[in-house]
Amino acid sequence: MTTYFNYPSKELQEELSRIARAIVAPGKGILAADESVSTMGKRLQDIGVENTDEHRRLYRQLLFSTDPKVAENISGVILFHETLYQKADDGTPFVELLKKRGIIPGIKVDKGVVPLFGSEDECTTQGLDDLAARCAQYKKDGCDFAKWRCVLKIGKNTPSYQSILENANVLARYASICQSQRIVPIVEPEVLPDGDHDLDRAQKVTETVLAAVYKALNDHHVYLEGTLLKPNMVTAGQSCAKKYTPDQVALATVEALRRTVPAAVPGITFLSGGQSEEEASVHLNAINNVPLLKPWALTFSYGRALQASVLRAWAGKKDNVAAGQNELLKRAKANGESAVGKYVAGSVVGAGADAALFIANHAY
Ligand code: 13P
Repeated sequence: MTTYFNYPSKELQEELSRIARAIVAPGKGILAADESVSTMGKRLQDIGVENTDEHRRLYRQLLFSTDPKVAENISGVILFHETLYQKADDGTPFVELLKKRGIIPGIKVDKGVVPLFGSEDECTTQGLDDLAARCAQYKKDGCDFAKWRCVLKIGKNTPSYQSILENANVLARYASICQSQRIVPIVEPEVLPDGDHDLDRAQKVTETVLAAVYKALNDHHVYLEGTLLKPNMVTAGQSCAKKYTPDQVALATVEALRRTVPAAVPGITFLSGGQSEEEASVHLNAINNVPLLKPWALTFSYGRALQASVLRAWAGKKDNVAAGQNELLKRAKANGESAVGKYVAGSVVGAGADAALFIANHAY
């Protein structure tokens, strides 16, 4: 075995690590607004709005034209391909709306999950074939970071060795291709919360998955300082009878991360994974208060837990745009406080802060 390879040039390393560090600056995190057309359709259906191009555009316009002070807590937004090329009513491209606010545009580049033949309902994620060309174009069009989501499922026999290895490798290929095109890869191996497993089992599985991911990233010479990790928090299965406190969830999460994620990684941006808005804020706050050395920034990259109240307050009505934006500001501020361990539980009450957001076998 030869171990010869080259890291990216000094200039590229600096560019990647500068972007990654800006995304996880203290008190800031990511708004994941990269719902695919069909997933956005489900969100719109919940509030009685038809899933048309124009309704999706109006909703994203609401998000991106929120008062610029939203940028105090939102450093980056993940977009879906369609949204990247949409414009506000006055013709301003959405990318420009974000950049004017000092928010970094990012892009979902995976093409969704496909089954692994012969497995127990496990999957891998596709989209590598033309990824370099797409990344080159996205960089030109204003995106500095990307997201690729892999999904792992906890069952009696799963995740299998096959799915752990396959998903780790595809994430590593994705990450190295992104870096070659000056895009910071957010590496997302999501262990789903579906199931009745306890906290301990969720922790062990998360550790095993993350260990495989970082081995693969190393095998593919990925420059870790120019990456971010987007993991699940370690929580018990959705239908587990035993309930755990935020401190227990936080300790299990930080232990799993300390055992597997190198200190070279600048930041960890959690997904919300079906937690309510309030739960996601309380858990992130508890994670930041775990009294152990945590060498990375620990912040949010929430989809559902940043948008549930916004959608509810907006309900597709022009007159409610400001009310929707106000919900985004409130939730972004709450999570910004959690990201520095200063959130007071219950201090931010939204239109749907406690609503359950769990969706079985969640697709994005
Ligand atoms: P949730 O926060 O809704 O889990 O989604 C975040 C995300 O980007 C999943 O890929």
